[in-house]
Amino acid sequence: MALKKTLTSQNQNNPRPLALMDNITINKNSNEFDKSSKIYTKFKKKLQKYLNAYQVKKIEKAFRVANEAHRGQLRKSGEEYIHHPLSAASILADFQLDHESIMAAILHDVIEDTELEKENLKKNFGVKVSELVDGVSKLDKINFSTKEEADAANLRKMLMAMSQDIRVILIKLADRKHNLETINALSSHKRKTIGKETLEIFAPIALRLGIHSLNKELEDLAFQSVYPLRFKIIKNEIKKSRGNRNELMGKIKNIIQIKLKEEGLETNVIAREKHAYGIYKKMKLKEFKFTHINDLFGVRVICKTVDDTYRSLGIIHNLYTPIPGRFKDYIAIPKSNGYQSLHTSIIGPHGLPIEIQIRTEDMDILAESGIASHWFYKSKNIPSLKNYTKEQQWITNLLNIQRDSGNPQEYLKSIKADLHPGKVYVFTPKGNILELPKRSTIIDYAYAVHTDLGNNFDSAKVDNIKVSANTILKNGQRVEISTKNNIRPDPSWLNFVVTEKARHSIRASLKLIKRKDAIDLGQKLLLYSLSDFKISLNDIPDKTMQIVLEEYKCKSIDDLYAEIGLGNRIAKLVAMRFAPTDSSSQNRNPSGGIQIRGTEGLVVSYAKCCYPIPGDPIIGHISQEKGIVVHRQVCRSIKHMKKNTEEMLDMSWDENIEDSFNASIKIEVENVRGVLALISSQIAQNDCNIESVTYDDTKETGNNIMIFIISISDIKALNKLIGKLKKNKNILNVERKKS
Ligand code: MN
Repeated sequence: MALKKTLTSQNQNNPRPLALMDNITINKNSNEFDKSSKIYTKFKKKLQKYLNAYQVKKIEKAFRVANEAHRGQLRKSGEEYIHHPLSAASILADFQLDHESIMAAILHDVIEDTELEKENLKKNFGVKVSELVDGVSKLDKINFSTKEEADAANLRKMLMAMSQDIRVILIKLADRKHNLETINALSSHKRKTIGKETLEIFAPIALRLGIHSLNKELEDLAFQSVYPLRFKIIKNEIKKSRGNRNELMGKIKNIIQIKLKEEGLETNVIAREKHAYGIYKKMKLKEFKFTHINDLFGVRVICKTVDDTYRSLGIIHNLYTPIPGRFKDYIAIPKSNGYQSLHTSIIGPHGLPIEIQIRTEDMDILAESGIASHWFYKSKNIPSLKNYTKEQQWITNLLNIQRDSGNPQEYLKSIKADLHPGKVYVFTPKGNILELPKRSTIIDYAYAVHTDLGNNFDSAKVDNIKVSANTILKNGQRVEISTKNNIRPDPSWLNFVVTEKARHSIRASLKLIKRKDAIDLGQKLLLYSLSDFKISLNDIPDKTMQIVLEEYKCKSIDDLYAEIGLGNRIAKLVAMRFAPTDSSSQNRNPSGGIQIRGTEGLVVSYAKCCYPIPGDPIIGHISQEKGIVVHRQVCRSIKHMKKNTEEMLDMSWDENIEDSFNASIKIEVENVRGVLALISSQIAQNDCNIESVTYDDTKETGNNIMIFIISISDIKALNKLIGKLKKNKNILNVERKKS
């Protein structure tokens, strides 16, 4: 959201007939240009440091055009409007961003707020610049402080804009920074809204893109807008502590620098302090008091080579006692945004804990400007330490997550989780390191490695021990996944996965499988229903087919099958539509109805009231939510459904079924010790698996009633098992549950 400027009344009533509409003409002698030229000179000096004369000239032209276009417009603060885009551009010039970005930053508000249009910009400054300005203008219209659903849609729009050209978001971040710097002219409500939005969306994006300096600045500015009092208190505390320690820090800095020099290392040692919002977050997160924040001050050591960083670390650890558990080697294991540095904490003089960061110059540039360093290196024609494929991939990933894969709230939640990550690092079998969000499970890991690894997941080992799919990963664990062909993702995984990649892939895969299943089943159902009319698919004239498909709004026969298979259309009715009017379904096909094999997948399920197994007389109930649910004909719960004959489906079992099915048996036993173990082992000996056991102690006989859900091949095997169980003298009664 841009800070809305106020237009001067003269401007509002009487829009200047700009000569800018097509060919831009510039009044070089305009007053405003002179007024702004002072900050402009400073800005130009920055540009000349890293851009060539031609590029600087182009930027100059963009500035004159923007200045002309905004002429007469004032900001709420009373400043000439041009100060704002110029300041934003100047922020980007500090990152040494390419000349196109700088031009676009200068022009970033002209489409929205002046009479200049995208076409004008394209003609005068080229496609790239006009696209960038257009992208920023679109971002400006996005408002994140509305309802969550709108937020999700807006985030998506923003990601779209970013994915077109990531420089759009860099310009937006610079725009936001300057708006926050000049936010005092706004009402307190607006300050809070903009501040909150910055803390929730923009600062995390800056962090995700590795632009740490901008992230910290945005956070502190926004923190000040949202909680002015808290900001002030923390700032004061920092000032007080600094007063006590300034001298000390200077001393430590010098001692380290001198010691490193003695050892032949040329380094640059900088003392630094934590930013206010960082302190606030830590206080809130760990419920610390300010006095307990012990990494308020730190030292950064910038080295010439990677080798020097490790040597410096050794020397510093030799000089001061390191605090155990605080050493982190982000050089060997960079963070996901590419950040590299050694971190350690030492106990300095007077027991003062000090955080130390050690890195090379390249790493430092990357740490401070992240993705922005890409253009910095590009402008110098040297290969960048940073390629930003990872960020690009991150955005593409988020975009690929289809909105229909969940409700907007969920989408928003997962993207926000993605923006505010805690991380866990685990190892692949080959020893590669994988970074995952905190609370990631085995399944998240599998999908993070490869979609196929997730979709074909069979079992997993962590540090060589077999674990279940929902196991939460911990730092440093080694994870190994075994796969199987022709296996499907389990819908229950959706209950525990935390990464959007996993959630999305599972849903997409299930959807695909479900459609395939639905087509197969739908075809079976339709052919069966057609046979009632003694016709086959081949008997149906193409024209009739076409008409019916159109009627049902189906693009293909597969679509129609899928509709039937999913229970959205009833096969019998569709068949009637195809049948010649004179035929009737009275000549009932003598077969036992549609045959099922148990491999129909997600569109056929087995009722949990009566647990049908092969051999049982069965009947199907079609419902839109559940597809076809198979019940035993004796099931009591379908009695009332039977009235609605259209929803019912004659069914029988295929003769060749290899799967096993769940059946439920009720066993009444004497209350004897160890009886459960006894029965369990007896069941297991009969090649059955026990899926679950529940006790039913509602009866007052003093005997125990246990309900076993067992998996078994068919009715024959079940009857055999029941017969055997009945011979057990501890068992008083065994029966199959009817419903
Ligand atoms: Mn702006």
